[in-house]
Amino acid sequence: MGRANVAYYASRDPFADFVTAPEISQIFGELIGAWCAVVMQALGGDVRLVEVGPGRGTLMVDMLRVLRRFVASSSSAAFTVHLVETSPRLRAAQKQALDGMGFSVSWHDHVEEVPPGPMLLVANEFLDALPIRQFVRTEAGWAERFVRDGQWLLLPCDDVPPEVAERHVAPEDVVEISPASIEFVRAITKRFCKTPGVALFIDYGTATSCVGESLQALRDARPVSALVEPGTADLTAHVDFASMARAATQAGACCYGPVEQGALLRSLGAVQRAKALCAAAPAQTGVIHAGLDRLIGPDRMGRLFKALAVTSADIGPLPGFPEKIWGEQE
Ligand code: SAH
Repeated sequence: MGRANVAYYASRDPFADFVTAPEISQIFGELIGAWCAVVMQALGGDVRLVEVGPGRGTLMVDMLRVLRRFVASSSSAAFTVHLVETSPRLRAAQKQALDGMGFSVSWHDHVEEVPPGPMLLVANEFLDALPIRQFVRTEAGWAERFVRDGQWLLLPCDDVPPEVAERHVAPEDVVEISPASIEFVRAITKRFCKTPGVALFIDYGTATSCVGESLQALRDARPVSALVEPGTADLTAHVDFASMARAATQAGACCYGPVEQGALLRSLGAVQRAKALCAAAPAQTGVIHAGLDRLIGPDRMGRLFKALAVTSADIGPLPGFPEKIWGEQE
């Protein structure tokens, strides 16, 4: 599934197949930008502002519009912009979106390439695009599901990863893990153990580790089989936020959340921001409210989408997150 998605993002316009929060309404990026302005103060200046999987660059553009005002009003607010993106096609779209904003932007293939120093990382709908492994509990023991020649293939598996082996599940149950997501979280935690850092992950998924498969394929905004020709549909899976938080805390970071996207955006002032936008452009009132509802409505993205913050040990409470740190609750 990993290679299929690399091919997909490199060759297709993903936004023909699905719509993400920053593409729905500018409110999303503006509020995340305001959140970043507060967090940057806690990081103490000279920050590498990093976005991983920046898509068309819309989120960063909206964030920078807010952050620009913050830079103008505070001498300790210097930061550089770093985008981690594998798709050449999307890199070109990001460059075009950010050109003329007056920030120097650099691109990287891997987050490890971002130069040393304090880091503030934002990743919206990035983890869901990383590959997963699916294990099935059969009468005979664990098996792993593969795709071969366009067909599902179930092969017995003797060396199941410990996080799968320890799960108590019923026969035929499926357990999904995303080693690539865990690896990513570990890599940034390693960095945060040396230099201050905060990472904000927003994605759709579950607050606890669940049983069942969540792999889905979308093409032209419609569900299709995950077995369609590799690279022609967007493949995503629910993010297991509990396993991300576990990986981060075990490696020495602190975690806040996950909080639901609706709750986070409300507490950052989504409703007030929508009001201000409507007052400035009354003809757009319907569109603005429809966008807001899609972002925060409990039956829309508001509850399914969640935010998890991973931080170095020395960072205080974060706006929009309860003070409780994941790991300390156990
Ligand atoms: N954050 C954007 C786009 C989400 S789509 C938005 O909210 O609109 C997923 C993004 O992650 C795309 O930009 C895709 O090219 C990128 N991506 C997928 N796998 C990646 C990887 N392994 N490393 C870096 N970027 C990746």
